[in-house]
Amino acid sequence: MANASNVRVRFCPSPTGNPHVGLVRTALFNWAFARHNEGKLVFRIEDTDAARDSEESYDQLLDSLRWLGLNWDEGPDEVGGPHAPYRQSQRMDIYKDVAEKLLAAGHAYHCYCTTPELDERRDAARKAGKPSGYDGHCRDLSAEQIEAYKAEGRTSIVRFRMPDETITFTDLVRGELTFTPENVPDYGIVRANGAPLYTLVNPVDDALMEITHVLRGEDLLSSTPRQVALYKALIELGIAQQIPAFGHLPYVMGEGNKKLSKRDPEASLNLYRERGFLPEGLLNYLSLLGWSFSKDQDIFTMSELVEKFDIADVNANPARFDLKKAEAINADHIRMLDVKAFTEACTPWLQAPFANWAPEAFDQAAWEAIAPHAQTRLQVLSDITQNVDFLFLDQPVEDEASWTKAMKGDPVALLTTARANLEAADWTSPESLKEAVLKAGEEHGLKLGKAQAPVRVAVTGRTVGLPLFESLEILGKDKTLSRIDTALGKLAA
Ligand code: GLU
Ligand code: ZN
Repeated sequence: MANASNVRVRFCPSPTGNPHVGLVRTALFNWAFARHNEGKLVFRIEDTDAARDSEESYDQLLDSLRWLGLNWDEGPDEVGGPHAPYRQSQRMDIYKDVAEKLLAAGHAYHCYCTTPELDERRDAARKAGKPSGYDGHCRDLSAEQIEAYKAEGRTSIVRFRMPDETITFTDLVRGELTFTPENVPDYGIVRANGAPLYTLVNPVDDALMEITHVLRGEDLLSSTPRQVALYKALIELGIAQQIPAFGHLPYVMGEGNKKLSKRDPEASLNLYRERGFLPEGLLNYLSLLGWSFSKDQDIFTMSELVEKFDIADVNANPARFDLKKAEAINADHIRMLDVKAFTEACTPWLQAPFANWAPEAFDQAAWEAIAPHAQTRLQVLSDITQNVDFLFLDQPVEDEASWTKAMKGDPVALLTTARANLEAADWTSPESLKEAVLKAGEEHGLKLGKAQAPVRVAVTGRTVGLPLFESLEILGKDKTLSRIDTALGKLAA
């Protein structure tokens, strides 16, 4: 085990598409591991695939990590560091140089096979029940054969020569893993056009950036034996100092027990952000995808996570993504905010495009008065808009379903009595307002729940919402009574 302060991990996404929760889970585990061990988190951008990478996606990655609070010690932009640049598109000379050294030392060779030739031989191997990976055809071409291929106008890719030996390593999550040579064929590291592949640039940068622990998704497990072999060659060439430890994080399963794909809508980080997940709520939930804090506690702060996080406690079994649980955990984190932080966190959802009221109708004092009542009831911050719109709209929203549901029996009689009682009530006390509606209910043979429904719909437009009597008090006597009058008018029509 590396000495604590030597721990160096990395998060190295490719900037394609929108950030998704699987990617965030990987970033989080690396971050927590680095912080727990007082090591360094290197953020590297793997943008060597110009056809798929985009600057927009790059900007989103940086913005997302900053929003989540997953800070890095070395990386692109103003952070920098001793191994800059941290964008692979700016490191092409390095890869070219390493590829040449591997070729010169015989660890790599040019492969002139065409795709149809490779396909044909693979099919034949399959039919014969043999391993169907690359067959080593160009491993030991003579100078004449090479000349002949070139004369034919063939191009070549560079392949890494896998040693003829079994490769074993101890995965930090899965324990000892062994791969036999027939299952790990020689693999391409540079394209025919000279572009280096992920198979080369990823381990080369891990080596040059002195990464000690590679924590990444299980989908990359099959590339690890190749990388271990490449590392041995890099060590021999003096490019790498050591082989990092590897830990492969479990798959995340989505709906129907299928692997959560980055294209699934529930995988999109932006969606959680727009719905008003708190970074700490989302991260708390994501940390439970393959890890647990303790048997009986699943709500914790980021500093508790850092204190406790150990890669050895990560479970190899696939984790199931459970949106309901994510929301429940987020709700707990909303409750953990102090009221001021909560009122501020809601700001975006009290404005366009979320707010359905005129901006000048917003009343800060009313908002601050209602906020504590809302804080204990939200799962996501975006729920705030419809919970408080009755305060800022001229008239409550018209929701026919709520209206029909609440205005049963003799709502005119009930509302008339409730209005009279409310008019006489003490408007500095929600208890007094409750008493007014309770009394009205008693007079008409209704329990409080049934009696308050028509009042709630008359005043807020909806059957569900924040505590009613606090809501009425904050809305104020005049508006409350006039909304009941409007409802009575509508019922009479
Ligand atoms: N750029 C690679 C990816 O996003 C990184 C894989 C790794 O962590 O080694 O899949
Ligand atoms: Zn070949």
